[in-house]
Amino acid sequence: MAKSTSSRARVWRDIYKRLAAELDRKECETWLRPVTCRGVDGDTLHLEVPNNLYREFITEKYLGLLEAKARELLGPEVKVELRAVVGQEGLFLANTSRDDDAAKYPAPKVSKLNPLYTFDTFVVGRSNSFCHAASRAVAQNPGARYNPLFIYGGVGLGKTHLLHAIGHETLGRGNGIRVSYLSCDHFMNEMIAAVKNNRTDAFRRKYRNVDFLLVDDIQFLAGMEGTQVEFFHTFNALYEAGSQIVLSSDRAPRDIPEVEDRLRTRFEWGLIADIQAPDYETRRAIIARKAELKHIAISDEVADLIATRLTTNIRAIEGVLNRLFATAQHTGTSVSFALAQDILNELVPEERRLSLSLDQLQEATAKYFNLSRRDLISKTRRANVARARQIAMYLCREKTNSSLADIGLAFGNRDHTTVLYSISKIEGAVASAEEKTVKILKDLERNLDRLGPAAN
Ligand code: ADP
Ligand code: MG
Repeated sequence: MAKSTSSRARVWRDIYKRLAAELDRKECETWLRPVTCRGVDGDTLHLEVPNNLYREFITEKYLGLLEAKARELLGPEVKVELRAVVGQEGLFLANTSRDDDAAKYPAPKVSKLNPLYTFDTFVVGRSNSFCHAASRAVAQNPGARYNPLFIYGGVGLGKTHLLHAIGHETLGRGNGIRVSYLSCDHFMNEMIAAVKNNRTDAFRRKYRNVDFLLVDDIQFLAGMEGTQVEFFHTFNALYEAGSQIVLSSDRAPRDIPEVEDRLRTRFEWGLIADIQAPDYETRRAIIARKAELKHIAISDEVADLIATRLTTNIRAIEGVLNRLFATAQHTGTSVSFALAQDILNELVPEERRLSLSLDQLQEATAKYFNLSRRDLISKTRRANVARARQIAMYLCREKTNSSLADIGLAFGNRDHTTVLYSISKIEGAVASAEEKTVKILKDLERNLDRLGPAAN
């Protein structure tokens, strides 16, 4: 270990200076200022942080940079060990009991509900009718039958819209019911601030004394141990008191990585409802409804074009509509087919996307890996087949207009979350520039370029 207190302090001061040069000042002050150095032991730099929240947060956000700076100063082999002075359990297991005097705690004003996200503006179709019905049921009869309600589905399919709609409807009854809507991120950030300012009691009281808690994007709990512990206790307190809990996520509880089992089980206690990509009719109905809400006329031809080209994400449909409406208004022209085409082409270049079929992509990927298409579609989990399958799914997503559901169907009727998971694996590898995957994709890209467009 580094001998004296002063040399330990100096090591950290030097590292801190280098970090401060690269990070936002406030960020650095908040997260890294409280770190102290315990010493250097062989190749390990021992750092101490106030509690596990810091440890998690620093590990998640700064460890790479921290290690890089430590290596510049102390040598290329150096590893950083972070130790929390106060353990998480000590901090959070002191469970505050729920206060019976509810009147003392008005509903926390957290995030505002978007006035446009109501049941009235939500178009119901086959893909979302189950979720919609479940949402209505908990809004009408909170805490009774479906607790928690767990809604999951891909990006831009209406989860947030439904959570807000539940909030509106519940509040609209005006019987003093205390409703809180917030994102998982918000919960985490607020908790971190509470820990920092020694206000954890107030934080706990705030969320453990509501009648209705809506938490959006709960998948962000993945890997966040400290937040999970806190959320676990919040969940229990609310559940025992008969308060309604509604959670949304981009995947099913079983597919959220790095979540404690006790929490995962609780997510599955009530009703799990998934929301799928909308089918053609629903897309048309959504387009019609959005146009109606904006008092804009849109021809069948244009509606059809948009509904055909954008199949997997309602937010994207909305984006195109908004641009279409804005441009038409700005230039004083009508919402013409040509304008719609221009905007769509800009957002989703057509040639490339429509030129290859799912079959061709499967065929090309299978061939590259020396497999048959049957292998790709099969249920086998052999590592090389599984990887090839993930790559094929990724390409199908990248190079065609197919929805996750379409891709799932083409791959032996897998569900869309499986497809999403596979695609995200490859996206992750691409994002981190993993050499092997990048090379495979490049090779495949070249092979695909030699293929002509699909016959259909
Ligand atoms: P998610 O939270 O699932 O990513 P959002 O709830 O934010 O998706 O929805 C994205 C956009 O699409 C929102 O503007 C929402 O109003 C709209 N939207 C989604 N589903 C529907 C629907 N069934 N009817 C009308 N609008 C919808
Ligand atoms: Mg959302």
